[in-house]
Amino acid sequence: MIYLDNAATTRTAPEVVEAMLPYFTENYGNPSTIYSLGSASKKAINQARKTIADSLGANMEEIYFTAGGSESDNWAIKAAAEAYASKGKHIITSKIEHHAVLHTCQYLEKHGYEVTYLDVDRNGIVDPEQLKAAIRPDTILITIMFANNEIGTIEPIAEIGAIAKEHGILFHTDAVQAFGQVPINVDEMHIDMLSSSAHKLNGPKGIGFLYIRKGVKIRSFIHGGAQERSRRAGTENVTGIVGYGAAVELAMKTMEERTRKEIELRDYLIHRLETEIDHCWLNGDRVKRLPNNVNFSFLFIEGESMLIMLDMKGICASSGSACTSGSLDPSHVLLAIGLKHEEAHGSLRLTLSADNTREELDFVVDSIKEIVARLRSMSPLYEDYLKKRTI
Ligand SMILES: *Cc1c(COP(=O)(O)O)cnc(C)c1O
Repeated sequence: MIYLDNAATTRTAPEVVEAMLPYFTENYGNPSTIYSLGSASKKAINQARKTIADSLGANMEEIYFTAGGSESDNWAIKAAAEAYASKGKHIITSKIEHHAVLHTCQYLEKHGYEVTYLDVDRNGIVDPEQLKAAIRPDTILITIMFANNEIGTIEPIAEIGAIAKEHGILFHTDAVQAFGQVPINVDEMHIDMLSSSAHKLNGPKGIGFLYIRKGVKIRSFIHGGAQERSRRAGTENVTGIVGYGAAVELAMKTMEERTRKEIELRDYLIHRLETEIDHCWLNGDRVKRLPNNVNFSFLFIEGESMLIMLDMKGICASSGSACTSGSLDPSHVLLAIGLKHEEAHGSLRLTLSADNTREELDFVVDSIKEIVARLRSMSPLYEDYLKKRTI
């Protein structure tokens, strides 16, 4: 098997699993208890919290554990909307956010909030000038993702943060794809809230955190016990949190070398695809791009068919469509960067890890060449195109 879908999830690192194991077995105490079995769990949670806070230039008290990226996005946006409603009910986001952000904004629109969805350019970049122009006296929140999960584009976060700060507006960023791949400092980038999820950086699934800057007014998300400073009640996911801490420690330690290797593999893959296949192009920004993201559109191809054929060759990848209840909706991200429906449908996302090899990528490129040729040979659109060309 060749795994090229690390934006969907990553393999839990062996070091992470090992760190977690004792908290399933001998260290099973509830962290809220006062005997030493419980204190061991509490200590482990705080150690993970410290590791995570340090990696962002934040304080331990500003890290709140959640059940993942979606929950963190929901919490940040809904709670900020509620806490700042007396100041205004206008939110600014972009058209290329993850659904955890977009659908939360749509939910708020049904409850009296107004949302501006900023356009992005052909590479998927939010224009800070457009953002400035969208700010109103009643704007209470700006939420723009750090890096896009489909096309890998990295947004000008420090610039956006500075604008938010200058206008006294809260700034949240969904950093689920970026954390562990790009250096992040919440102070330098003027970030007030930040979402992350462990399973995107070789940690376990079902655990995330929300960074909330000290002083930000924010509501509790789960009411109950005093866990997470009473803002997110419920017995902590101790194993998940321990695994998260281990994953972040590993990610920070390896970031430089790992991303250098990923970039090398990424650029090799991009180069081979664009030089060896006709009628295809790279989506997303070439420079401001996640180290492991490759996203291509192939004309005259259905992405879903390509995925099935890649799967038969043991290659895990992702397409530019989301299959919802049988109908294929082209990706909102690819439409937002200006692709036509049929161009968005013919898209393929390959997200690497540093464990991939050139040999694997060679096999992948050869497979894609073969599949593209086969699918095009069956495509009436391609036949039309060839006919028109010869006239
Ligand atoms: C995966 C992802 C999420 C959702 O995270 P979960 O932990 O799966 O809920 C949110 N935003 C982005 C950008 C993602 O890539």
